Amino acid sequence: MLNKNLKNYHINMKRFTLLIPIFLFLFSAKAQVKFDYDYVVVGAGMSGLSAACNLNNYNGLVLEKNGRVGGRVHSKTYEDITYEMGAYSAYPSQLLPFEYDPGSLSPGNDSLGMLLNGKIIRCANPLECMFKGGFSVEDIESIQEFDGKNGIDFSRFPTWKIQMMNGFFNVVQSGDIREYNPKRQRDAFKKWTTDHYNNGNSALAYEYRSRLNAKVVLNAEVTRIKDYGTYVQIEYLENNKKFTVTSKSVVVTTPAPITTKIIEDLKPEVNTMLEKVKFNPHAVYVMVLKGDKIKPFNYLTTPELQSSYILRGTTDNPNLNVFYIHFSHDKSKFIEKFNQDKLDKTALEVMESTFGKSFSKELVVKTDFSFWKSAAVVVDPDYYERWERIIFHPSKRVFLAGDYLDIYGFPLGINAAVQSGLRAGKETFEFLRDE
Ligand SMILES: Cc1cc2nc3c(=O)[nH]c(=O)nc-3n(C[C@H](O)[C@H](O)[C@H](O)COP(=O)(O)OP(=O)(O)OC[C@H]3O[C@@H](n4cnc5c(N)ncnc54)[C@H](O)[C@@H]3O)c2cc1C
Repeated sequence: MLNKNLKNYHINMKRFTLLIPIFLFLFSAKAQVKFDYDYVVVGAGMSGLSAACNLNNYNGLVLEKNGRVGGRVHSKTYEDITYEMGAYSAYPSQLLPFEYDPGSLSPGNDSLGMLLNGKIIRCANPLECMFKGGFSVEDIESIQEFDGKNGIDFSRFPTWKIQMMNGFFNVVQSGDIREYNPKRQRDAFKKWTTDHYNNGNSALAYEYRSRLNAKVVLNAEVTRIKDYGTYVQIEYLENNKKFTVTSKSVVVTTPAPITTKIIEDLKPEVNTMLEKVKFNPHAVYVMVLKGDKIKPFNYLTTPELQSSYILRGTTDNPNLNVFYIHFSHDKSKFIEKFNQDKLDKTALEVMESTFGKSFSKELVVKTDFSFWKSAAVVVDPDYYERWERIIFHPSKRVFLAGDYLDIYGFPLGINAAVQSGLRAGKETFEFLRDE
């Protein structure tokens, strides 16, 4: 009996020993994830491209929903000139992560304007225009005295004066000045430069792309990101086909409202912070004119019309001028619904109402239109105070970037996007190096 038990024991042990390599294999297979990539960057706007540029030593993938890189930077050409569907002004090239010459620059004009009761008031700065348009000395003084903490006392201004402020405010920010925090309210009274690189801002996006070692997939819309702790899984659609990849890390550079939708199981505190970030829409109608007689100006607000403001672009071709008719927030939502005919008619009406006989529609040689669903972030009163470090790195393998996450206090613009992307790229690099 004892002998039989001993024999069985030996047989079982032998069987068990034989099974050990299988257990070991299964165990190690579970612990060792097969990574497709070291990093995946979601979005190939300026922040995504900057992040990927800082990760060139690793094996990476960049997924971009559009059929082009650049995001809200989108230059197009007509004859020998380049015009912008998105970001217009020149960026500080010395802050880029590599030496880059953006080419010749056309400086913006010094004169501003405001359309009031059908007449253009010209000025050197917004406060001068407001004064000429009916603001009292006390109004101007109260604006000049407002401090960055409490903001403007809007209760002392009637609606028509707030509308005038919004006219200039909308040149850089979107929507109503009263929704913004005091720091940003000042933007209504600054004079903004409109210098423009003649090669267009997209040239920088192409330069970035040519420097990337990562694989860039266009028309790839990311639908789901999940951080499993040992790896992160990313799902995307390309030509209606679903793909799933695994990666050691992911940098998500989409605007906040998209980011919250695609990342699964975001920590509640990060989710709350992101959900408070509101982006307003914006639209731009581009009009190229051959040899017009319109007196030079930089930008001109049109609060009484269907448009928000008109920017006069500069080109290095003396025969071609580009006018950008901007529609901010509600005005953009309104014209988004227009068909092409109605849109063209509206743009012509805006130019005729603003410039009268100086504008001749026969001189229009090219038009174009772009609508941006998520154009600019609304910097509400507790915007800067809300952020905590956790927002940049919400979970072990997920990093966030985008202009709205700028760390220098102006969450909009090419430079904000570049700096935010570089920071996320650097942090992801350190994470991969140390893991
Ligand atoms: C009309 C207009 C005028 C402007 N004027 C100026 C200006 O004069 N000067 C200036 O400095 N800035 C200007 N800006 C702002 C500037 O363009 C932005 O701040 C900057 O380009 C933002 O870069 P980003 O990379 O953070 O975001 P984005 O450029 O928005 O990049 C995000 C990218 O993510 C992609 N994406 C979105 N969802 C997904 C998804 N699910 N999967 C994959 N990819 C996705 C998008 O297609 C996009 O390419 C302007 C913007 C607009 C709209």
